[in-house]
Amino acid sequence: MMSKRILVLGAGPAGGAVAIGLRRMGYPVTVVSEPRPFDAVEGISARAIEGLRGAGFQRALERVASASPRQVTWNGQTSAANTEHLVVRQRFDAALLEDLSAEGITVIEGRVKRHRFLGERHVIEVEADTEPAALECEFLVEARGRAAPAAGVPRVQGRKTLSLLQYWQGPVGPARSAVQSFAEGWAWLAQCVDGRRYLQLTVDADSTRLPPKQALGDWCRTRLEQLEQAQPFIEGAEPVGEVRARISTPVLCERIAGDNWIRVGDAAMAVDPLSGNGIFQALSSALQAPAVVNTLLQNPEQNGLACQFHEQRIEGLFYRFARIGRDFYAQESQWPDQAFWQKRSHWPDTTPLHSEVTPDKVTTDWRPVVQDGLITQVEVVITPDQPLGIWHLNGLELAPLLRRIRAQHRPVADVLGESLGAERGVQLAHWMLQQGWV
Ligand code: FAD
Repeated sequence: MMSKRILVLGAGPAGGAVAIGLRRMGYPVTVVSEPRPFDAVEGISARAIEGLRGAGFQRALERVASASPRQVTWNGQTSAANTEHLVVRQRFDAALLEDLSAEGITVIEGRVKRHRFLGERHVIEVEADTEPAALECEFLVEARGRAAPAAGVPRVQGRKTLSLLQYWQGPVGPARSAVQSFAEGWAWLAQCVDGRRYLQLTVDADSTRLPPKQALGDWCRTRLEQLEQAQPFIEGAEPVGEVRARISTPVLCERIAGDNWIRVGDAAMAVDPLSGNGIFQALSSALQAPAVVNTLLQNPEQNGLACQFHEQRIEGLFYRFARIGRDFYAQESQWPDQAFWQKRSHWPDTTPLHSEVTPDKVTTDWRPVVQDGLITQVEVVITPDQPLGIWHLNGLELAPLLRRIRAQHRPVADVLGESLGAERGVQLAHWMLQQGWV
């Protein structure tokens, strides 16, 4: 058992994944989290399900609905080729805590009130019924999602975005979801098998003139009634409870790790909900974090490398998803004069999502990677599309092979065949050709 105590603040998918990863490395881990203030329904992809399974969330996965159809109406075109899995977050998050307890992680249900750093220790004041008011640890994982304090943290922010959501209750029917764009934004509509509908309108927070709180329900209803995709969700259904607002502005924190702390998930970077990939992103940022924390604790001389690794990966993910979002927003051309669409079809930049890869742009260099639970530096292949580098393909280190190819003026398959055998040599040569490396 490692001796350094680790405290994780927030038990969403990101905090949970880091806690399990660190626990499995042998660290004593405590998680402090409070339930989210109101329930939300979200949709996740098969890829996110795989991520949750890989992170060790068996019980939470049992609360995820099976795949249901998702219709999309965008730029006046409707497609029904997609599916997604609906997740009722409060039930999902409660099961996630069960997964953490089953891993031997101490779970404290309470609200983090205050954080201080005293000498070598973090001191966290927690408001909880049963537990001590102050907890101490040597290492802190900040995973309180968008609620994580960020005063003084340099941040990149996307267009200010707000999602208005309301539950409606209607007849019981099969689960399904739909997306539709409209002049002021876009709607995501979900129906759970118990007949509950979760209807969400996402708008520009600066330019949308919203009415006072008591009139928000009518404001949303008027827009839903005009949306073709919303009809099956609102027919025979009525709103239950008030309209809630969730801030959904994309945010990237530029400092997300130090000698004895790290930020993961939405606390490090939160994406536009249009991607429908927030949970996947949160997991992606969290799955490599245990190796970063392990390095910070075990190999302090590599702290710079470990922080650089975490920051570059989070930044890479953020811009990739921001550009995917930009290109999707740009496909909507019905309301070119509307602020919502103007602001989003050009942010964050004009860099294409994919850059052309040609052999002259492919190089080798040293970059940080995860190896045996630690961040170390190895030689990787760098391409315009993979600036952080590609280390190996199914265990085969690529940089030395590429150098060998370049040193010899012979057919690529022949060079590779010498060390890999003729058949694998031909396969890898074909793969490198497809990638634009040779
Ligand atoms: P969270 O899941 O937010 O977990 C943080 C935890 O910390 C919560 O349990 C919270 O209650 C707790 N906490 C916060 N403050 C404190 C405190 N002071 N003390 C103790 N505990 C605290 N993602 C998708 O994949 N699909 C979607 O359809 C989708 N739709 C979205 C719609 C909207 C409007 C928004 C805003 C986001 C959406 N997301 C969606 C994104 C998704 O919710 C997040 O990306 C994901 O939950 C981030 O995981 P996390 O673990 O970083 O944080």
